[in-house]
Amino acid sequence: MPTSEFDLIYRYFSSLGAGPAVDLSVGDDCAILRLEPNERLATSVDTMVEGVHFPEDMFPEDIGFRAVSVAVSDLAAMGARPIGMTVALTLPEADEFWINTFSQGLAQAVSEYKLPLVGGDTTRGPLTISVQVMGALPADKALLREGAQVGDLVYVSGTLGDAAGALAFLNGEWHPEPDAAEFLLQRFHRPRARVELGRELLGKATSAIDISDGLLADAGHIAAASGVSIDIECGRVPLSSALNSHPDSESKLKWALSGGDDYELCLTLPEEATTPEGCTRIGRVTKGHGVKVDQDIDFTAGYQHF
Ligand code: ADP
Ligand code: MG
Repeated sequence: MPTSEFDLIYRYFSSLGAGPAVDLSVGDDCAILRLEPNERLATSVDTMVEGVHFPEDMFPEDIGFRAVSVAVSDLAAMGARPIGMTVALTLPEADEFWINTFSQGLAQAVSEYKLPLVGGDTTRGPLTISVQVMGALPADKALLREGAQVGDLVYVSGTLGDAAGALAFLNGEWHPEPDAAEFLLQRFHRPRARVELGRELLGKATSAIDISDGLLADAGHIAAASGVSIDIECGRVPLSSALNSHPDSESKLKWALSGGDDYELCLTLPEEATTPEGCTRIGRVTKGHGVKVDQDIDFTAGYQHF
């Protein structure tokens, strides 16, 4: 990128880099972050490509907030405490309105997750945003996909299927009432990663994953990693009242089971544990493999890129 364009980005991004774990932020060759004694680094990266992971007309503020939430959701699913992120931005042009508005979405996410922006990279090309997140974990604890035990109960946070319902609305496949439409769009444009819940579950949940590709696909990862079967009672899967306003019960159940992009957590807990706040019990871990549901519907698996 020419220096002037880089200056533009620097102007909007350089104020987002301060945090308790940050010794050195944007401006040098690397950022330097500090871990407390007896902590480990958890890190993950997610890439969003325009037209693939978000629609071409999405507002840049939402693109910024959502790209961070999607990446932070992986920290939440590990029970990690966010300490910093880097953002690699590929832009077709250095459009000041776009960069300004995008940076406002980033700033909101920095504040929401207490996750400073400590560095990144800027290149020219088709609009693509990669967010690399870093979090701290205690030396002896992490929420893994493996560890679910036969007899454990299966829970999800929040409500499922809202983002898929929003996409169906955007594609003109149904016409919810204005309040419901607004709620669903908010869920799709502004997913909230469950960082606090993940941290509360650390040392309690036997396994966890964030739901990015749909409940069936992601619960399937727990089942595979843990060597168990996850049995889901469809009637227990929590739906928002907005999604419930859809007249066809099979469509909304399919969205809740196989629609992606909700960024809630799916987790397992020993039977005697109390239900975590904001979570709903949806099933049980049994002997076997894969995910089983108690209704006969033609379910498609979660969205796969390849
Ligand atoms: P280098 O050539 O060493 O990679 P750059 O010119 O790419 O350096 O970046 C200079 C500084 O600006 C670095 O500290 C880098 O982390 C930061 N930076 C570049 N692009 C971004 C971005 N999109 N978001 C945040 N920081 C960025
Ligand atoms: Mg660089």
